[in-house]
Amino acid sequence: MDGLDPRSLIVIAGLLALICVIIMFALRRSFPRSIAGLATWAWATVAMVVCGLLFGLRGTIPDFFSIVLANTMLVGAALAMLVALRRFGELPRLPRWLVVGGLALLATAMAWFTYGQPLYPARLLIVTFILTLLFGHLALLAWRVGKGSFASGVTALASGTTALFAALRFGSTLLALDTPQSLFDKTTFQMLYLAAFNVTALISTLGFILMANDRLRETVEHIASHDLLSGAFSRRAFLEMAEAELARSLRHGRPLALLMFDLDHFKAINDRYGHLVGDRVISDFARRTQSILRRQDMLGRYGGEEFVALLPETGLDEARNAAERICRGLGGSDDLPAYTVSIGAARAYPGMPLNALLMAADQALYQAKANGRNRVEVAGDAADAAESASAGH
Ligand code: GH3
Ligand code: MG
Ligand code: MG
Repeated sequence: MDGLDPRSLIVIAGLLALICVIIMFALRRSFPRSIAGLATWAWATVAMVVCGLLFGLRGTIPDFFSIVLANTMLVGAALAMLVALRRFGELPRLPRWLVVGGLALLATAMAWFTYGQPLYPARLLIVTFILTLLFGHLALLAWRVGKGSFASGVTALASGTTALFAALRFGSTLLALDTPQSLFDKTTFQMLYLAAFNVTALISTLGFILMANDRLRETVEHIASHDLLSGAFSRRAFLEMAEAELARSLRHGRPLALLMFDLDHFKAINDRYGHLVGDRVISDFARRTQSILRRQDMLGRYGGEEFVALLPETGLDEARNAAERICRGLGGSDDLPAYTVSIGAARAYPGMPLNALLMAADQALYQAKANGRNRVEVAGDAADAAESASAGH
């Protein structure tokens, strides 16, 4: 490793990191506000580059800048990455006293081992120990927050490697395998540590940019397929998925049921309490219904106050039960007017197109309205007749 000058390495990694910083600030401007943490991570990267510079100027600038400040900034940058990732993952903030107090303590220790009792290995032990913990934590958190996606894997692997090298540097110093007396002693461990640290920190940053990009795609996909007010699937997304699910169920001979909902006397709710309250009733209904439906069921907003739900692996009796529970589960919220829903249920028959299934449920819903509202009706005879008619041909 003799040919490799650690100073050039720090400069190259620093330049690449600055490019990442520009990208991150640009993304922050164009990405939705809900994707948080980009600016914090960018500032953390700036801090890393600055402390790289400070380390690089060791010997030519006062020790206070190149040792005390540089080491504190390095740990501060790792902490800021943690803060960024927590903001990105919508996790609770780290307590401020912990961050500020920890950094102040570190700065004091660095100052002591520079001026009071000058001891490079002691400083190295302290900083590598903290970096091992911080980057190890960062790796686990990235994996968890990014739900094991490729991007989170890149970030986690890179941060994990940083932690590993920091740990190796800690271990090698502790066991006195090599004892560099200064930052730019070209011992093998020292070179490995510097090279690995710079490269892996850079890859972590690229991984985080990819994670933010993933999040953008998820957000756009969600907006495209969901209704904003109720959180249910949009009509178009629902129909697309229902078409596929119906085909799948019929192909495998599995039961499938469809529920059609229409809130009762909704015009009166709007007229009496105003449109905003009407909107809240719509989202309240969707939330309560989702909580009663199973994970594999799909709820879609069909129109204004009309919803549809597709229930895979569900026969007519079970569908009716679910619908009854939804009917009974409404009301009882303190700040909303009482409201009710009428529900029509239908099941899929072999050869049935989606339109026919929707129509059958709609007819049952019409019956529920005609029979007094706030109730469930099941499409039976008509569809049975259709089946026996189609079976007869
Ligand atoms: P019925 O029991 O027969 O269903 O009576 P209804 O009053 O609910 O009748 P209808 O289905 O014709 O009325 C639906 C009303 O829902 C009309 C429309 O103003 C209102 N609406 C549609 N979309 C929205 C929405 O997004 N927000 C609010 N607040 N109201 C909506
Ligand atoms: Mg209606
Ligand atoms: Mg209605």
